[in-house]
Amino acid sequence: MGESLKDRVALVTGAVGGIGQAISMVLAQEGASVGLNYLVEPDEYAQEFLKEFTEHGYNGRLYKADVSRYQDTTHMIEKVIKDFGKVDILVNNAGITMDKTLKKMAVEQWEKVIAVDLSSVFNCSKALIEHMLDRSYGRIISISSVVGQKGNYGQTNYAAAKAAIIGFTKSLALETAKKGITVNAVAPGFVRTAMTEQMPKDVLQKIVDSVPVGRMAEPWEVARAVLFLADEKSSYMTGQVLSVNGGLYM
Ligand code: NAD
Repeated sequence: MGESLKDRVALVTGAVGGIGQAISMVLAQEGASVGLNYLVEPDEYAQEFLKEFTEHGYNGRLYKADVSRYQDTTHMIEKVIKDFGKVDILVNNAGITMDKTLKKMAVEQWEKVIAVDLSSVFNCSKALIEHMLDRSYGRIISISSVVGQKGNYGQTNYAAAKAAIIGFTKSLALETAKKGITVNAVAPGFVRTAMTEQMPKDVLQKIVDSVPVGRMAEPWEVARAVLFLADEKSSYMTGQVLSVNGGLYM
């Protein structure tokens, strides 16, 4: 176990999903206490993950909350601050897909993906920004996607949300640059998680064939980039998009 995040408190949204688990583990491995937000997974599954987390000697707590809703988010963040005393690192990781070509996409599928993938980033950042400004310290890292950089067939909703995260990140980085807060995004390529398991096998194979590295990413490979940005010493890096995509988009 390292100590680079000793005494730091992180809040990871979607922490019980594939990439979220890896991020939470990697931050905890470096000594951070982690608020583990989730919504979709069954409670027993989340408890099982917490058990594993604790067995590693990590300090974490589960927070079930819908981060696409502002009120739910503020309540959750109040609880996290009450439990751990502060939040130093926010990782906006929660996300969903509802793929359809625009012709077939229902308005609800547009609205839902924008709410979960984009408004959640606003909700969590907004609910924490004063806290971070008051303490003159913060690391905000949002999980975008290669799809937000280059587009993807059947994902106008998801691509729009993930591209908007980049604009949000750059703007908030400007607003907080002199205040000890860095704001960055990580843009993964295709990662082996429940999200990509939903994709048709032939579509996925075609994507893998086009990745220069020749395979999908493992969740820990994305978590490494988050860890780098979460470090106190990554203090001159703000408003950036760190791509972890196996060379898929350069
Ligand atoms: P996943 O489906 O395994 O996990 C998603 C997590 O988000 C789950 O823990 C779920 O409970 C949570 N969640 C969903 N809706 C929520 C809500 N309203 N409130 C709170 N939590 C909510 O997906 P993943 O592959 O681990 O994706 C994590 C992030 O990485 C997402 O933002 C996703 O868009 C992004 N991403 C994934 C890939 C990939 O290939 N898997 C690629 C690029 C970016």
